[in-house]
Amino acid sequence: MIHTGRHFLQIPGPTNVPDRVLRAMDRPVIDHRGPEFAILGKEILAGMAAIFATSSPVIIYTSSGTGACEASLANTLSPGDRVLIFETGHFSAIWRQIGERLGLAVTYIPGDWRRGASAAEAEARLRADSSHVFKAVVVVHNETSTGVTSKIAELRRVMNQLGHPALLIVDAISSLASIDYRHDEWRVDVMVCGSQKGLMLPPGIGLNVVSAKALEASKRSRFPRSYFDWASIIAANAQGFFPYTPPTLMMFGLREALALLREEGLENVFARHARLAEATRCAVVAWGLEILATDPRERSNTLTAIVVPEGVDADVIRTTILERFDMSLGVGLGKLKGRVFRIGHLGSFNELMLAATLCGVQMGLRLCDVPIGDGVGAALEFLTAPKSGAAQRAPALV
Ligand SMILES: *Cc1c(COP(=O)(O)O)cnc(C)c1O
Repeated sequence: MIHTGRHFLQIPGPTNVPDRVLRAMDRPVIDHRGPEFAILGKEILAGMAAIFATSSPVIIYTSSGTGACEASLANTLSPGDRVLIFETGHFSAIWRQIGERLGLAVTYIPGDWRRGASAAEAEARLRADSSHVFKAVVVVHNETSTGVTSKIAELRRVMNQLGHPALLIVDAISSLASIDYRHDEWRVDVMVCGSQKGLMLPPGIGLNVVSAKALEASKRSRFPRSYFDWASIIAANAQGFFPYTPPTLMMFGLREALALLREEGLENVFARHARLAEATRCAVVAWGLEILATDPRERSNTLTAIVVPEGVDADVIRTTILERFDMSLGVGLGKLKGRVFRIGHLGSFNELMLAATLCGVQMGLRLCDVPIGDGVGAALEFLTAPKSGAAQRAPALV
């Protein structure tokens, strides 16, 4: 079938790349060891630190997000070290796999894929660990497979109260620049991110933001590493360069994306995501469908995973919507395959894009004979209600 107009990319990453970012990348490649690049490199590294309110070094890899996950472990730990990983969903399972393949001893705290990391569970495990066997606590801030956001501040509080010295490693790949994240305040030791979600770029950049403590740990770490080694990258970054070829045109895009975030203001970016997420949740409730995330306080502002009724295959709904309306929605990952579909509402996104997205979903559900109410109407009502002011954080559904 021939489709006209724009494709709707409503998966929870990669997200829609704004025209300004696309135009910034549409240019000849420059010499990455020349003076023009040095200026660009320095500007980006400073811009990243400013926008994420951190004084820590920002490491930029030419990799997908998973490469940056591996790098965070390989730079700070040693073979056989014990790490605590919370089971939140598909992406926490990948963390476990990376840890085990590297040769770490992983304690995987079980979860039901509907809730976030439990601070009470962390407290019990870390309190029992008086000899400080755990070298790192790994948590996915926003679990993209389930649409659940974990409370990093609570985990930090537990670690502080117990005085536990483990490193705190946070996967903020689908939350950074969309959901409030406080690197310095939460004393995160390594934050892991990628380019293709809230940063509104194509895939291809992975990021580590490291603390002084993590840098210290990297000097003692005994994992073999070469390409992903922080030290050589930080050394070259001082002059605005990279030891290996950076994704030159993506760097121009990143500079433009940082400018977009700066112009809108991070607080407004977070409020916009909260509001569009709340409108999405209004639609799901009015459709009469179930939001996978059980605790309203943990519902993600970047995506919503929707459980389809018993006997319905979520992939049939997704395929129908793709074929009829040229819109891509997120698949159910891992054990959620066929049980859920996910709507991405993050990045370069606005009210009319959301309205069209919800219309596509509603029409798709009707075409698949799923009995539903008028979700679109409920979402539009929410968006036009006087009290849902754009600058205010939307109230959580209770
Ligand atoms: C997207 C994502 C990843 C994986 O990133 P890739 O770029 O596909 O390697 C890891 N964790 C989370 C939370 C994600 O959303």
